[in-house]
Amino acid sequence: MSEADIREKLGLVHVYTGNGKGKTTAALGLALRAMGNGLKVAMVQFMKAPQFYGEYEISKSLPNLTLLPMGRDCLVHEDKVTQADIDAAQAALAKSKELLHSGRYDMVIMDEVNVSIRFDLVRTEDLVRLVKERPPRVELVITGRYAPPEIIDLADLVTEMKCIKHPYTKGVQARAGIEH
Ligand code: ATP
Ligand code: MG
Repeated sequence: MSEADIREKLGLVHVYTGNGKGKTTAALGLALRAMGNGLKVAMVQFMKAPQFYGEYEISKSLPNLTLLPMGRDCLVHEDKVTQADIDAAQAALAKSKELLHSGRYDMVIMDEVNVSIRFDLVRTEDLVRLVKERPPRVELVITGRYAPPEIIDLADLVTEMKCIKHPYTKGVQARAGIEH
């Protein structure tokens, strides 16, 4: 199948949500598959800084993947959100919109944007508008716990990762190469 035929069928919205592990890595797996079909992928990471994440390191050697971690260099605390946290998330939202409309990408992933909404860094209505006004033939992937019902309604594909077990509960801390 030609790349033009592949692109012809794009344009759906995915949501990966829920409290189990696998949302960001599912999006990265999809990106890998898309790139294997000659597609170009952009991933904007809300609330994540470039340090520590293996996917950012490998993205530097993948010409068809643009990965932009746009969080600050510290954790966002839900009960103590700062103006700088809001500014960073708003910049990530604006960048996502720009990439979506740039014509340069076949897939745009907004990683953890649902969490940004939950923490009041981004408004649900702004993400709803971005989804509704997206250009045709760009596959849009939205990840993060707490997907708002308005976004679930708009999506074509919704998967909820459900935690059955996680080694964290028996004291295994986040591991390089597995959690980050
Ligand atoms: P991954 O990035 O591994 O695909 P995720 O995107 O589904 O995980 P997040 O909700 O973004 O998970 O959580 C951020 C971090 O917490 C990740 O390092 C993830 O591996 C880890 N994590 C995910 N689910 C759980 C859980 N149920 N208990 C503890 N830690 C978790
Ligand atoms: Mg994640």
